[in-house]
Amino acid sequence: MSAAQPEDPAISDLFQTVVAGGFCVGCGACATLRPDRLAMGLDKYGRLVPHLVEQAGAASDMDPRAVCPFSDRAKNEDAIAAETFPAAPYRNDQIGRWGSLHAGYVTQGEFRKDGTSGGMTNWVASELMRRGLVDAVLHVKPASRPSSGLIFEYAVSHTLDEVRTGAKTRYYPCELSTVMDYVRKTPLRFALVSLPCFARAARLLRKNDRLIGERLKFQIALVCGHLKSTAYAEYYGWTAGIHPRDLTYLDFRYKTAQAQTAKDYFIQAKGKGEMPESFLENRDVFGTDWGLGFFKLKACDFCDDVLGETADITLGDAWLPRFDHDPAGTNIVVARHPALVDLIADAAASGHIHLEYLCAEDVIRSQDAGFRHRRDGLAYRLYLQDKAGGWRPRKRVAAGYRHLTLRYRLLFRLREKLRDLSHQAFADAVDKNSLPDFVKAMRPVVSLYWFVHRQMNPDYWRRKLVQRLSRIFPRLINLK
Ligand SMILES: Cc1cc2nc3c(=O)[nH]c(=O)nc-3n(C[C@H](O)[C@H](O)[C@H](O)COP(=O)(O)OP(=O)(O)OC[C@H]3O[C@@H](n4cnc5c(N)ncnc54)[C@H](O)[C@@H]3O)c2cc1C
Ligand code: SF4
Ligand code: SF4
Repeated sequence: MSAAQPEDPAISDLFQTVVAGGFCVGCGACATLRPDRLAMGLDKYGRLVPHLVEQAGAASDMDPRAVCPFSDRAKNEDAIAAETFPAAPYRNDQIGRWGSLHAGYVTQGEFRKDGTSGGMTNWVASELMRRGLVDAVLHVKPASRPSSGLIFEYAVSHTLDEVRTGAKTRYYPCELSTVMDYVRKTPLRFALVSLPCFARAARLLRKNDRLIGERLKFQIALVCGHLKSTAYAEYYGWTAGIHPRDLTYLDFRYKTAQAQTAKDYFIQAKGKGEMPESFLENRDVFGTDWGLGFFKLKACDFCDDVLGETADITLGDAWLPRFDHDPAGTNIVVARHPALVDLIADAAASGHIHLEYLCAEDVIRSQDAGFRHRRDGLAYRLYLQDKAGGWRPRKRVAAGYRHLTLRYRLLFRLREKLRDLSHQAFADAVDKNSLPDFVKAMRPVVSLYWFVHRQMNPDYWRRKLVQRLSRIFPRLINLK
């Protein structure tokens, strides 16, 4: 069989729909289920995608669409959560099902200092191991083989020390097939840390693969805004003076003693050999505002799970004014599995973590922009996609445009433009070995985006008018 022509109708359909449409998030679940025909690799824009391989090992007739988080053949988040957490006391359309909601951070050890936010994610993983509930953790760490072209990858931690070295968030493509192969071969109990769509894929793998089903015991999710291609790390590294081919490590959120708020952080980049490490202040780097969506995967624009609804526990940043002032970082914590609801309550009682109750509205408010983009924005993108024709994944949000003002429609269209242009412009800049070419290509669209964002916002003109009036009639404005 030729490696380029799948004769398996299920694989063929997956390629013609999810992969060809650009809806693949690169999770590697399909390659986990069908290692006989599929393997993961980077495309020319630094995105992980499956490709066909010559027949490897015993042939299988498993349907990879059943585990793909973007296939209509796979169960959606609502169905999986209903099966997994039937007794969860609470539920709504944004958070899914849950047992408890908190904001908090770790007070024990160095977890908070070493973590991206409040350190709760790596602490929960460690605590599951320390309490003997799992033997190993699957999470994302610096790559063991930089020759693979990736600087981070999924890895297996077997000891508390190994888990500790896996702290920190990587806005970087990583896939599951290698570690899931290890799970199949190794009779241990595992916990998985993942993004929401990977959590859905892992739940589906547990249903479709007996060994993964028996051995994967707990799932921890990170809240997710969107995922980036490898170009995001390379762009930061290059801006810091390290060429993409020389980049070996990047800390996307390096905490400093000078930070005044949780949003003040640096980028730490390391290059090959004796190259000195470099630091950049995040807010000084052109185009790194998360809303611009540079290097975003297209799949993420067609995703409606912000809070990891199928995971046993989800952790994110508590982006709320009352926590933003603390530069050490604070997590939001959505616990769903009863054992994890109890685990965090016990740890708070014994003083190992600091926890405060949050109401559902505050949890949703902490991810305000993420929900706007993945509810209002998603409905509009689905409408546009349907108008253009062709396949797109079925979502829990209905297609539509009437709910949006002209300004929002423009903003959402510009975000898609920025997403696609950033992939192409960065690849061109690498070809020409010229970082300024990338900035030059992006700047006009970024300027237009900020114009629509600010100048077309009625609040902007209202504020301007108040400022002007307060200068002309200071007493009048201050009248109570
Ligand atoms: C692509 C991406 C987008 C995100 N978007 C948002 C958002 O919009 N809003 C929000 O509140 N939070 C978001 N987060 C989560 C946030 O950045 C923090 O990771 C989270 O608050 C946990 O912080 P912590 O201090 O508890 O993590 P830590 O204690 O530092 O632990 C992080 C754990 O996650 C693992 N890990 C790191 N990168 C990945 C990865 N790519 N996939 C799977 N596991 C990984 C690490 O190995 C480690 O075990 C995002 C994370 C990622 C990776
Ligand atoms: S999203 Fe995951 S399962 Fe679906 S095609 Fe891509 S890598 Fe395969
Ligand atoms: S935005 Fe959605 S699809 Fe994209 S990585 Fe996050 S959870 Fe997955």
